[in-house]
Amino acid sequence: MTGTVYLVGSGPGDPELLTVRAARLIDEADVVLHDKLPGPEILDRIPAEKREDVGKRAGGERTPQSETNARLVELAEAGNDVVRLKGGDPFVFGRGGEEMAYLAEHGVPFEVVPGVTSAVGAAGVAGIPVTHRDHASSVSFVTGHEDPTKDESAVDWGALADTGGTIVVLMGVGKLPDYTRALREAGMDPETPVALVERGTWPDMRVATGTLDTIVDARDEHGIEPPAITVIGEVAASRDRVVEFLQGRGGDGATPADDDSDGGETA
Ligand code: SAH
Repeated sequence: MTGTVYLVGSGPGDPELLTVRAARLIDEADVVLHDKLPGPEILDRIPAEKREDVGKRAGGERTPQSETNARLVELAEAGNDVVRLKGGDPFVFGRGGEEMAYLAEHGVPFEVVPGVTSAVGAAGVAGIPVTHRDHASSVSFVTGHEDPTKDESAVDWGALADTGGTIVVLMGVGKLPDYTRALREAGMDPETPVALVERGTWPDMRVATGTLDTIVDARDEHGIEPPAITVIGEVAASRDRVVEFLQGRGGDGATPADDDSDGGETA
């Protein structure tokens, strides 16, 4: 009997933000295929004998997506129920769509289990509402991994600058200087508030705030590293107004993690 593959979102990292369904499926699975993004608190709870890391391999390069796809089918055809665990939501810059299509092509039954995306959740715990009745009536989720200077960039930064809504950039720590410049050149106010939320909901979460003009310096000063989201727009200023009342995992001040992960910067 072919097993089932569950494409599961882990949420941003706090195990209490796993859905009840995700937690149950992880318990019941024969195998859990994952990369580093779900975070140490969630991964460390999964028994080592049923974990399979399909993130970085020894030597540092990523496991090719084709190998992960093939492994999912192989495990399911051998009768295993497989959890494919992804950080945040499986369909937000998570390659969940590619894996789903591959499973369907190969006749493997699957189920999609949504998760709390970092694009909303990491901002929220930092005291930043991605929409606000007075300040932002739309929000765009964008990859920062693209090179904004290349000719046929899939992200139209000029159009995003014109929306007047919130822009949340994922995988955007490294190219922060490029797209903040692209937004300024497209006419966005250089005083627009910007926040970087690193390892949102993890115990060592950190936040750096600034403006379109100053955020690169803030990134360098605090040594912000992936995984982090960049929130651009009026709403990003709200953190500084509420931070002294933020409880739980909304604070900052911890040291950066020191591992070989690139924080999913190359999804
Ligand atoms: N599917 C994931 C996104 C995968 S792309 C989701 O829905 O959240 C990888 C990027 O997600 C990282 O580079 C970073 O921008 C973001 N990310 C994931 N977890 C994060 C966290 N806990 N805090 C901040 N950013 C996070």
